[in-house]
Amino acid sequence: MSKRSRKFFAGWGGVLLAVICLAVLASDTSGAEAKPVRKVLMIGIDGCRPDAIEAAHTPHLDRLVKQGLYCENTDILASRETKGDTVSGPGWSNLLTGVWPDKHGVVDNSFKGSSYMEYPHFFARVKEARPELKTASFSSWPPIAEKILSHSDETINAKAQHAQDYLVADDELSTAAAKCIRAGKSDVVVCYFGQVDETGHGNGFHPTVKKYVESIERVDGYIGRLLAAIDERQKTSQEAWLILVCTDHGGSGTNHGGGREKPEIRHVFIIASGTEVKAGKTSEPTYQVDIVATALDYLGIVPQASWKLDGQSVLDLKRSE
Ligand SMILES: [Zn+2]
Repeated sequence: MSKRSRKFFAGWGGVLLAVICLAVLASDTSGAEAKPVRKVLMIGIDGCRPDAIEAAHTPHLDRLVKQGLYCENTDILASRETKGDTVSGPGWSNLLTGVWPDKHGVVDNSFKGSSYMEYPHFFARVKEARPELKTASFSSWPPIAEKILSHSDETINAKAQHAQDYLVADDELSTAAAKCIRAGKSDVVVCYFGQVDETGHGNGFHPTVKKYVESIERVDGYIGRLLAAIDERQKTSQEAWLILVCTDHGGSGTNHGGGREKPEIRHVFIIASGTEVKAGKTSEPTYQVDIVATALDYLGIVPQASWKLDGQSVLDLKRSE
């Protein structure tokens, strides 16, 4: 090697050494700030009118609204004509499969004509795309676990039959769900509460009905348990949760069936909250089927065309404030 080329290599060797040092430093830095693991909690409150949440004392729901995205213009029916009634069967099928009744086939609470094989509970989509993720479902209205649910690693079917059962069931299932979150073993958790709807049927769905409002306040307390568990995980375990809150329908008088023309039945809300969600409010049109699309979006799962999902993620919607 000539003197000149030796000098050349010595010079470039120094540069190379510097580049390696920088690369090591950079990888160290990114190691220290490792991206948090994204997880999803979907909270379903059956038959919950948004104006009744406003009338109720709900510190935990208020916190989710304040720190998250509030979609105030959510429709429980598709913009295209489908035969789904404004009841729980089609409602929870829309919310959990991400498609409308003309696809999942459920138009009432008989569940006749359901096509969950072709349009399954979204846990099936999560498992297909990311088989390593663990799923868990906690619910008190039996058809959720017995008819709609599939691909769940942990299931609590609290099986309430009567109004009084829902008080006990919702209490128990929220404790179990909080325990599951704390244990850190689940990535996608669904938690369904049934007592608000039951109370509405017994006493009236309206913000002036004390018992109805009180049932929302009780559920807010259960949500507080879930949020305490999430707060703990986010502090100690590098997790970043998306918390979605939704409902299947509102109510009018003591009912909600046949409510196509009634805004107090048809017009609901979605809350999407979490440390990685930009806060604000949106009046853009949103739909029940957007819940699944949003959960998948947050988990980095791109829906396959063959899934034929109907919804859109709400995470990037324009905020009005
Ligand atoms: Zn319902």
